[in-house]
Amino acid sequence: MRIAIYPGSFDPITKGHLDILKTGAEIFDKVIIAVARNSEKKGFLSIDDRVKLIRESIKDLENVEADSFEGLTIEYAKKKGAKVLIRGLRAVSDFEYELQLSQANSALCSDIKTVFLTTKPKYNFISSSTIKEIYLNNGDISKFVPEPVYEFLKSRNVS
Ligand code: ADP
Repeated sequence: MRIAIYPGSFDPITKGHLDILKTGAEIFDKVIIAVARNSEKKGFLSIDDRVKLIRESIKDLENVEADSFEGLTIEYAKKKGAKVLIRGLRAVSDFEYELQLSQANSALCSDIKTVFLTTKPKYNFISSSTIKEIYLNNGDISKFVPEPVYEFLKSRNVS
């Protein structure tokens, strides 16, 4: 069974993330989308809310599950029996950081490979930070996030 981990902050999950996830789910037998519990990064949403919103957004993807983890991604991948990490690329600006990260992971554990996926062009510019900015300035984020995220943010004053 080919298991892949899609790690990230997902603060919150966007339609860009979801598009990557759908492609991953077609390629691999199982994809685990995993929220990294990074103590240094002050989040917008709590880890539990991020995981809950991911679960609600992936209901129609049968071979995808959501989780969170602490510590090194490769250790989490080993624990889950995954040999592949999925990361997304939007632009050249993502490339340098993503290349470094994948090489660091590869140096730590050569058995685990990173694959890079891209989204449909219409989702390419979407990032969690852009969405936060639009939301906090009362803009319309409905086009950029899955329905459960939109409803959650509409019903709560997270700012
Ligand atoms: P991180 O904080 O680990 O970068 P993110 O939640 O911001 O986590 O993103 C997780 C992964 O998804 C990263 O590899 C990022 O480049 C990718 N990604 C995010 N948005 C998009 C998008 N619109 N198109 C392609 N890849 C994306």
